[in-house]
Amino acid sequence: MSAGDRGLQTVALPVGWAPDSWRTRPATQQPVYPDAGALADVQQELRRLPPLVTSWEILVLKKQLAEAQEGRRFVLQGGDCAESFDDCESAQISNRLKVLLQMSLVLVHGLRLPVVRVGRFAGQYAKPRSADSEERDGVSLPSYRGDFINQPAFTAEARTPDPRRMVKGHARSAMTMNFVRALIDGGFADLHHPEYWDLGWVGHSPLSADYARMVAAVGDAVRFMETISGESLHNLERADFYTSHEALLLPYEEALTRQVPRQWGWFNLSTHFPWIGMRTADLDGAHVEYFRGLRNPVAVKVGPSLTPDQLLRLAERLNPDDEPGRLAFIHRMGAARIADKLPPLLEAMRREGRRVLWICDPMHGNTETTSNGYKTRRFANIRDEVETAFELHAAAGTRLGGVHLELTGENVTECTGGARDLTDTDLGRAYRSTVDPRLNYEQSLEIAMLIVRKHAQ
Ligand code: PEP
Ligand code: MN
Repeated sequence: MSAGDRGLQTVALPVGWAPDSWRTRPATQQPVYPDAGALADVQQELRRLPPLVTSWEILVLKKQLAEAQEGRRFVLQGGDCAESFDDCESAQISNRLKVLLQMSLVLVHGLRLPVVRVGRFAGQYAKPRSADSEERDGVSLPSYRGDFINQPAFTAEARTPDPRRMVKGHARSAMTMNFVRALIDGGFADLHHPEYWDLGWVGHSPLSADYARMVAAVGDAVRFMETISGESLHNLERADFYTSHEALLLPYEEALTRQVPRQWGWFNLSTHFPWIGMRTADLDGAHVEYFRGLRNPVAVKVGPSLTPDQLLRLAERLNPDDEPGRLAFIHRMGAARIADKLPPLLEAMRREGRRVLWICDPMHGNTETTSNGYKTRRFANIRDEVETAFELHAAAGTRLGGVHLELTGENVTECTGGARDLTDTDLGRAYRSTVDPRLNYEQSLEIAMLIVRKHAQ
């Protein structure tokens, strides 16, 4: 067994693991490709293509997540439920970046903590589904599983899984990353110019006065620091952005799993921070097997049916050495169940003294369908779940280190409530998501403001 040096501690390479050892375990939520040869060709092509991120970036993020675990940073993770190939366009990418930057400004200012910004983008193209197939008028076709796999139109051609879509998804992810990196490097995230992040249509938002006050206060602080130091504060001109996605489609993830010169072990170089979805978090399943061998920081979505014992076993399997920054649990219980379901999990991890970064996803436990047929989430439930999460962590002696949100920079009406008090009938006006409902710009900013209020209590 070889081992690597990680500061003072040595972490062992996992026994019996290889990038394809997941194939010996039951792999759920995978498409059935009609042509195994075409799939093998695509994997071969993906193995040769350049990676999307580097091992250095991954290790820097791991360190920052370790600091978030200790309360020295706060994690903001957000983006679409599912990206689509069509939405890979400049305005959508920059609008999403603007919302995340505005939210992080609110958090930095209010929490007095550096914020780790993690996008749910550049690879969020595969979706778990509750059924493998869909029936319409007596016709049964495979479910739409995300643009990596097939297309939403209800025709046999569109729904047949096509492995070539992985190559296209890799290219779309690279274009997204390239644009985000170029914007950031070019000064788009410069704290001296928060006006770059204004979204045209929000001038009369009920929240804009609060936000403008915050921007002015940050501007004053920046100018003050520059006056006394006599120079421009260069590190305010850029902000790091990391990427994450649900690493659901294992043939894709396997092909992007690499060894790199002068580093031990294996990295998933398709993203900085992959997560395992709630439906694939089985201890003995293929996803947990695949994840246990990565050196990336990894996360697992934790739903209301997971027992404390199962949680501890997941922590042991995915982070046997209790490495700082390695493991995050993203709890998504729903506003109605969090007070019952979360405390025993927090207590189990605390009792065993295990390191983990706790992140709250207040979206996925609060999805419902309105009487007029829209899948939605009520802002009041999302807000309740975040607020209750802070309270439960405080009571348990653990720490909420971040939030995970589905949001967009577009002016959509997908979640009800919030500052403009959107109603069920408003949903029809601008409902664009093909999967889960997202917070719009105002609702996102409002969540950032309430996190600040809650954190201060
Ligand atoms: C998601 O994050 O889009 C998702 C499907 O979440 P979960 O696995 O928590 O249900
Ligand atoms: Mn979702």
